[in-house]
Amino acid sequence: MAQPKSNNLPRAKHLAAGSHALTRRSFLLATLAAGALPFRGGSEEPSRMRQVTLGRTGIRTPVFLGDWMGSEEMYRIALEAGVNYWHKIGQWRSPAPYEIFQKMDRDSFACDTTIDTLDKDEAIAEFERNRKRAGLEMIDGFKIHSEYRSAEDVKTKMGAVRAFEELKRQGRTRYLMMSQHINTAEVFEAAVESDLFDLIQIPVNPTVPQDYFSTQTFPNRHTRERYFGIISKAAAKGIAIVAMKTFLGGTKTWDHVEGLRDEVRDYLPDDGSIATALIHWVLDIPGVLAFGNILFNRDQLEQNLKAATGRLTKSEDRGLRILAARLGCEMCRMCGSCTRAFPEGPAVSEILRFKTYYLSGEVASARDHYRRLPPSARYLEGTDLSPLERACPYGLPLARLVRETHMLLA
Ligand code: SF4
Repeated sequence: MAQPKSNNLPRAKHLAAGSHALTRRSFLLATLAAGALPFRGGSEEPSRMRQVTLGRTGIRTPVFLGDWMGSEEMYRIALEAGVNYWHKIGQWRSPAPYEIFQKMDRDSFACDTTIDTLDKDEAIAEFERNRKRAGLEMIDGFKIHSEYRSAEDVKTKMGAVRAFEELKRQGRTRYLMMSQHINTAEVFEAAVESDLFDLIQIPVNPTVPQDYFSTQTFPNRHTRERYFGIISKAAAKGIAIVAMKTFLGGTKTWDHVEGLRDEVRDYLPDDGSIATALIHWVLDIPGVLAFGNILFNRDQLEQNLKAATGRLTKSEDRGLRILAARLGCEMCRMCGSCTRAFPEGPAVSEILRFKTYYLSGEVASARDHYRRLPPSARYLEGTDLSPLERACPYGLPLARLVRETHMLLA
């Protein structure tokens, strides 16, 4: 098997056991990060979050990665539970308690920030803005955020990669990362082939890129195998795969499908058990190392921390089969088929992604994203979407879904 290419990066030994001298506080945090102190869920026996090494970065972390949280207290609880990797630092809206992280020993946690451009100078400027906002000397991960639209882009649009290389030379960052949720399979595959990236964050849930346990049949049923095959290939190369979009749009999306709750109640009786089952399912995919989500309240945080200690049960699996089959009729798998068939038409997968933001409570952000689409990429009253429906291998009722979303976001 080919050895992973190194990117000539210094690997993170800082979070592994046996790191160098630590302050008292950093010792405490490093100890927590190593899972020495367990998370306690109510009156149950304490359990440790499962620990993983994020591929060739060498970063050792619990399977739950932190992101924006709804209160400062939640950040502190997460840190005390051992969470030591944080997404999108420097880009959090309030509360964004960067001072907590500024006071910590820099070797006791890892973080990334996302870059929303492929232009070299703009990427450097964005990274530096985020870094200064976070008040950190260095941000471990320079993560290109869903900027590629094709395999060709990955091969030819190298501005952001050059920006990373320059910042790495300056000691401002260490690892090149990518998150991708548009035309995901194609871009993801090209990114793995390129061997440029140390960590890739992609949607992983029971309906991407193909309906997981659906009883429906679709023309390209091979896609899921291909997608999971790419994940395995990435893992073999030492590329860390991190899951996002784990919750299929979250509770409001589950509510949106009539009768869904009743159908899964015997196996997944409440929001917490659905979320836990989805986390367990995602972490069961070979090659998927960890997951991360923004969390709005303490219950969600505790649920995520607790889920990070367990594995998929038979009952959860049964419930998810039902859930996925029903949600499969509504959820865009972001496969890109419609856009490839009609590149000049509405940006369907992006519009439907913004709907999931809306349904999860990110109303202003969802509307803002929708407004920022070029006019031709938005839905125009009277547009015939039946050709797009025919191009969708999952048979989604796009005319209805896009029209409904336009009503919510316009
Ligand atoms: S709408 Fe259908 S074809 Fe278009 S990206 Fe979503 S799943 Fe794929």
